[in-house]
Amino acid sequence: MGDETIRVAVMGAAGRMGATVCRAVIDAPDMELVAVIDPPHEGRPLDDFGVAGTGLVIEMLGPSLKKAEPAVAVDFTNLDAARGNLRWCALNGVHAVCGTTGLTAGDLQDLSALFDGERGNAVIAPNFAIGAVLMMQLAAIAAPWFESAEIIELHHDNKVDAPSGTALLTAQRIAESSAEWTPDPTRTTVLDGARGGEGPAGIRIHSVRLNGLVAHQEVLLGTTGQSLTIRHDSYDRTSFMPGVLLAVREVANRPGLTVGLDTLLGF
Ligand code: NAD
Repeated sequence: MGDETIRVAVMGAAGRMGATVCRAVIDAPDMELVAVIDPPHEGRPLDDFGVAGTGLVIEMLGPSLKKAEPAVAVDFTNLDAARGNLRWCALNGVHAVCGTTGLTAGDLQDLSALFDGERGNAVIAPNFAIGAVLMMQLAAIAAPWFESAEIIELHHDNKVDAPSGTALLTAQRIAESSAEWTPDPTRTTVLDGARGGEGPAGIRIHSVRLNGLVAHQEVLLGTTGQSLTIRHDSYDRTSFMPGVLLAVREVANRPGLTVGLDTLLGF
């Protein structure tokens, strides 16, 4: 990283995460917030969304964003929007940091072709909370010592996708670490979905949506006579900001597409 100020644009700036990112960028001494994008709120001052004093007005994606010359664009929007926004970043040579969840394996394949390291780089992470990344890492370390694993993810009642990207990535990490899991003993399901969704290696994922929650997850690992529970809680959206700012600082040095914060944290 050089000494230059990093010019940052935020996509989804009027949203809960986007507005939190705007505040974090403003407070970061090595960054400047240069553009805010959120087409449903075009023309409104950023002040309307709890981020006062920048003088910035919400814009559409397009030439005015290019003119603001962002080095990095941060996307916290929705799946369809993120697909378009990331494509725009790659085609316009802007590095992308994306926290929008729900991207499929096919999306990631398309994105690794788009972010080829020549035009721009991207860091995509379903969870920017450093504690959640550690939870996944610890679950992968523990997995070979257990025979059963289940994941319970709990989120606020406005989350539109299930299960969470973090839960899916955790199941994938556990499955990569150990393939030997006891088959599901269930023979009769009285209520559809009672055993949750079947993730990688048959690991069951249960999604809870509850007013008052932010983002929480438990990984339960069991073997004869003992169990291990690894739990992470994000109580506030600021929990994601150190990870987002780390990605903004690092993305220029990571050619191509990076998925997950792990490598940025040195795992
Ligand atoms: P939100 O609904 O509050 O905000 C989304 C914003 O995107 C809205 O303001 C909406 O108007 C805007 N938007 C819609 N279309 C757009 C477009 N084409 N371009 C730019 N902006 C557009 O949602 P939120 O709670 O802020 O969550 C946003 C995303 O972030 C979700 O996918 C959520 O799951 C994810 N999330 C990820 C992490 C993480 O650590 N990776 C943490 C929390 C939330």
